[in-house]
Amino acid sequence: MNMATMVNRKCVFAFQEGHAKMVDLLGGKGANLAEMTRAGLSVPPGFTVTTEACLAYFKDGNQLNDDVMHQILMGLAQLERGKGQFFGERDKPLLVSVRSGSVTSMPGMMDTILNVGLNDETVVGISELTGNPRFAFDCYRRLIQMFGHVVMGVDSQLFEHQLERMKKREGVLRDEQISADGLKQLVQEYKLLVQLKTGRIFPQDVVDQLRLAIEAVFSSWNNARAQVYRRLHRIPDDQGTAVNVQSMVFGNMGDTCGTGVVFTRNPSTGENALFGEFLLNAQGEDVVAGIRTPMPIAALEQVMPDVYHELQRTVKQLELHYQDIQDIEFTIEHNKLYLLQTRSGKRNAQAALKIAVDLVREGIITKRQAIERIDPMHLEQLLHRAISEEAQQQSLAKGLPASPGAAVGQVAFHAETAVAWSKEGKRVILVRPETTPEDIEGVLASEGVVTLRGGMTSHAAVVARGMGKPCVCGCETIQFLEAEHCIQIGNQVIQEGDWVTIDGHRGLICLGEFELKEPEMTQELSELLAWADEVRTLRVLANADHPHDAQVARQFGAEGIGLCRTEHMFFDKERLPVVQRMILAEHADARQDALAQLLPMQQSDFEGMFEAMEGLPVTIRLLDPPLHEFLPKRKELQDRLQELRGQVGMAREIADVEAAMKKVEALEEVNPMLGQRGCRLGIVYPEVYDMQIEAIFKAAASCLERGIIVRPEIMIPLVGHVTELKFFRDRIEQIASQILSKMQLQLCAYKVGTMIEVPRAALTARQIAVHADFFSFGTNDLTQMTLGYSRDDAEGKFLSQYLDHRILPHNPFQVLDEDGVGQLIQLANTAGKSVKPQLKAGVCGEHGGDPQSIQFCHAIGLEYVSCSPYRIPLARIAAAQAVIAQERSVEEVSTQVKGKAV
Ligand code: PEP
Ligand code: MG
Repeated sequence: MNMATMVNRKCVFAFQEGHAKMVDLLGGKGANLAEMTRAGLSVPPGFTVTTEACLAYFKDGNQLNDDVMHQILMGLAQLERGKGQFFGERDKPLLVSVRSGSVTSMPGMMDTILNVGLNDETVVGISELTGNPRFAFDCYRRLIQMFGHVVMGVDSQLFEHQLERMKKREGVLRDEQISADGLKQLVQEYKLLVQLKTGRIFPQDVVDQLRLAIEAVFSSWNNARAQVYRRLHRIPDDQGTAVNVQSMVFGNMGDTCGTGVVFTRNPSTGENALFGEFLLNAQGEDVVAGIRTPMPIAALEQVMPDVYHELQRTVKQLELHYQDIQDIEFTIEHNKLYLLQTRSGKRNAQAALKIAVDLVREGIITKRQAIERIDPMHLEQLLHRAISEEAQQQSLAKGLPASPGAAVGQVAFHAETAVAWSKEGKRVILVRPETTPEDIEGVLASEGVVTLRGGMTSHAAVVARGMGKPCVCGCETIQFLEAEHCIQIGNQVIQEGDWVTIDGHRGLICLGEFELKEPEMTQELSELLAWADEVRTLRVLANADHPHDAQVARQFGAEGIGLCRTEHMFFDKERLPVVQRMILAEHADARQDALAQLLPMQQSDFEGMFEAMEGLPVTIRLLDPPLHEFLPKRKELQDRLQELRGQVGMAREIADVEAAMKKVEALEEVNPMLGQRGCRLGIVYPEVYDMQIEAIFKAAASCLERGIIVRPEIMIPLVGHVTELKFFRDRIEQIASQILSKMQLQLCAYKVGTMIEVPRAALTARQIAVHADFFSFGTNDLTQMTLGYSRDDAEGKFLSQYLDHRILPHNPFQVLDEDGVGQLIQLANTAGKSVKPQLKAGVCGEHGGDPQSIQFCHAIGLEYVSCSPYRIPLARIAAAQAVIAQERSVEEVSTQVKGKAV
């Protein structure tokens, strides 16, 4: 949009002019305020400056242009007329809040300024009008503090220090105990602080205040934490934010006033009961900022029963209207209830599921709507761990159970430390007095979060829940000893780096590392998954390498094994020495010896897999990684050699280590990922693959004898030429006919297929399909080789910069690169099926458990995805969502076509 198009375009909407569907223009908050106003609810009047105005603001070099400013002043004039209060007028001053409101909710990520319109004159007016100078100067000092920080860039800690000093001077503990004179004095000190730090005076012209506040809120779209949040939640940068200018109502005018946040259902458990918190005699941000620990919403019934019942009625009305759990901010001014915002409530996985299922049961939404409501990534949260009974009994401190799941890690006191330590591979628990949105990177880098202050709707809780991180809030028994750089709980001192275990479900903190219990499926999850299964067409298989994992996968609904990486069976403590002997063998006989020892082990592995997956396909991939991965590192051998040489009578041991060293050197490669691995290994050492094939068929025969139905699928890795596949197919058929009886051959309808993970395989899929019963796209390697990024190095080296600079939209090892890798998959799938229509094709790389990639797999007509066991529920939901999304886009196209025809 250019300037010319912006001029004369309506970019300021009074609340009564908008509605819920105008989210793109008015942002979520603006659209909902408009909708509530229309519904006749008690919303303080105001207007919204649109997201288009925000984009124009950026285009104009971060300046509000004259036309937008003119419309804002018109909106203000209309507001003044409606309220009978006037901006900057001493006797009837109008005060407004200026709040961000993006299209996609980004709680706490952008800025807000309250009490705009106060200056040295109007503060006196408010003081006289309310007969409450304490209140008036409290509002004024808050304005200077917020404005000073957000607009003028003064560190908010400096204001806090002055506030703390004033409390000490007056000998009081809480903010609301500071006297009117103390606040008056504080206002002077704040103004001086602003002048000292910025060289500018806190503006007395209220229109300047408004303009600067709106500009600052627009600018906060690009602050660091908002950018991180957008990247994390895949929110486009070019949405921009709207700004809501709303007349102030006051929760801090005394004990008949208050402010709070209420959810229509419990966002942690999903329970259908009001959940929230409030503070008496406090102003808006106090609850969300987590500065004071609020009271539970149920306590409002005792303090103000009428207000409580009105609140109860109104919020349920809103929930029914939006057909979803609502997160509502309210203020009570002299026993009158005002709604300041409603939005769909952020919830954790457990609550999301329960709420979606309950809403279907209550007849409010359909099953398909319920499926759409679930964020598949959230399901991972549900499958979160918990602490043991033993740990529960030994907890040191208890706080609010703000986000479920348990975590173990080393304590870090600052977000930067958490980020640095997690980069070193450490597990971190971030412990903060309270978290501010600036801490988001720290929260992201941590396993879990603990805060000393703040409630369950504080920033820390909301962000942690959104990320699925365990969080314990409001742990007031913990003392922060800043000077000693430690915390204290009772007599126990905890230093940075000490290990703790936290339980966000119970709100517990335990000293030390405790074992965590694995999660279980809930009734709601099973129900929702059953609905998803009715809808989806993609099959969901598991990547599992051990019978135990296969069992877990089956419990989660796996319809078979899509990838069993047999090398993972070789790393077992007992087996590794045998595998090493096999690799180190000087001649074929010695190798055969080792292989003969491995064969029964592999056979029992496969029997276990077949039993766990009885009747379902089990795709077994023959050995893939380079052999040196099974041998000790060269440095380890050198050290061992040095040690042995210092001792007597070690000639034999020395010779063994020297032999191992020689082999390690011989196997060393400059680019092992492009070297002797996958089927290349099988061609160089056919006896290894032969052993595996034999073990598979012996396991199949044994199962068949016991009446267990088996469906083995043998998969060849890293095929690039059809001849490689043909080479192994012939051997497989030969070994099968040697091991299985005629009858067993009929019963065991085995398949032979290939990974498609080398670009050449994708490009020659037509030839390969002739000899393959299935294609399994190994998108880890296919991504590595298509992009030319080493999968072992890219993430630690350059990928984060690529993401920071938006050179790549996503990490291609997590989310499929549809335009590149995706095209190869599509091409190979189409080409393969043109030769062999019954060819089965799916994805078994990491992308098989990523919702966006699953959607792509469905759209291009693959038959299945395969992912790790704990991701199976997620994949089942994502596969159902892919169907619904596809149906919707078909519907939209047909509506458009019909529209054109008319
Ligand atoms: C792949 O490359 O996508 C794959 C599944 O194989 P691996 O990760 O074992 O190389
Ligand atoms: Mg691979």
